[in-house]
Amino acid sequence: MHQGRAGGLTAAVLGAGAAAALGYQLWRRWPRLRLAGRTALVTGGSRGLGLGLAHELLLAGMQVAFCARDGGEVQRAARQLQRRGRVHGAVCDVTDADAVKALIADVERRLGPIDVLVNNAGQMLVGPLEHMRREDFDAAMAVHFRGPLHATLALLPGMRRRRRGHIVNIASIGGVVAVPHMAPYVASKFALVGLSRALREELAGSGVRVTTVCPGPMRTGSQLGAWFKGRHRDEYAWFAASGALPLVSTGGLRAARRIVAAIRSGEPELTIGVPARLLRWFDALAPGLATDLSALVEKLVLPAPGGIGAQVRRGADSDQRLRGSWLAGRIDAAAAELQP
Ligand code: NDP
Repeated sequence: MHQGRAGGLTAAVLGAGAAAALGYQLWRRWPRLRLAGRTALVTGGSRGLGLGLAHELLLAGMQVAFCARDGGEVQRAARQLQRRGRVHGAVCDVTDADAVKALIADVERRLGPIDVLVNNAGQMLVGPLEHMRREDFDAAMAVHFRGPLHATLALLPGMRRRRRGHIVNIASIGGVVAVPHMAPYVASKFALVGLSRALREELAGSGVRVTTVCPGPMRTGSQLGAWFKGRHRDEYAWFAASGALPLVSTGGLRAARRIVAAIRSGEPELTIGVPARLLRWFDALAPGLATDLSALVEKLVLPAPGGIGAQVRRGADSDQRLRGSWLAGRIDAAAAELQP
């Protein structure tokens, strides 16, 4: 009798807990920000995730400005996106604070006040710590930390005045759990996560929301444009494979759609992909253990120092090991989908 009542009580508590968790998830994802008719700026929008985001924001009815360094790619991406709506593509290096300020002034003159800023521009560098130089850390901080900071500081006064705005920082799972052979990238993405969370906290109640996005591997074709050091062909092989394997990697456009949904609802944090979510939970449950296991993988599986040492090669010049394989086919397909 007692046992039956206790069992019923446990089931009721579990049911109420599950309903509360589901309710919270629904409330968190409920659309709050109207996007149609407003203006977004996407840094690094000429290809990959940024191009996918520009596309999805246009589909949501926004006017979209984007920037990147390669003028040819910017033009091609702008031509491709123009079919979807009002677009402005500009050449701008986000590491240059004055250029970012000038870009924002120009975009606001053409398209009106920027309500959504997506700090997406990024550059990957892969290789063992032995081959990383101080300049590599400086360069990673310049693009992943100071770039978003320049754009945020230039836009915040206007957003605060209008009491409306959304800043999205595309960090990485490598910005919350260290991944091997990417020390400058990891350090700079950790810095971006810290900045993003501090902004979210300080801007609460101001009408300006901040979302920190931590994607796991995505199929954006970025492996081909990434830089590799040391045994660059072996480094490319493990890195590119992890970014293309089914179940491990997420499609670039799918990730872009999820990010746009997070902008609408104002979600504070978004982790993309099941492996990235598992890694975060694992790290929260047993802090340090994930890093120790990753160190083990680094010692047992990843390439030892050597090869071209501190010199760099592009992924596209390091892909011999995978060439012709089905994984190479998946990488090429992702690159074709998200290249202008
Ligand atoms: P891509 O290499 O495909 O695209 C990067 C974009 O950023 C390009 O448009 C590039 O254009 C631009 N860019 C790079 N440096 C600068 C700069 N200094 N100033 C302006 N634009 C710049 O990368 P992804 O699309 O794969 O990655 C997008 C973001 O997602 C990055 O921040 C990345 O770190 C993050 N991420 C990616 C993951 C993945 O698996 N792909 C996983 C986790 C996070 P150009 O070179 O012409 O300047």
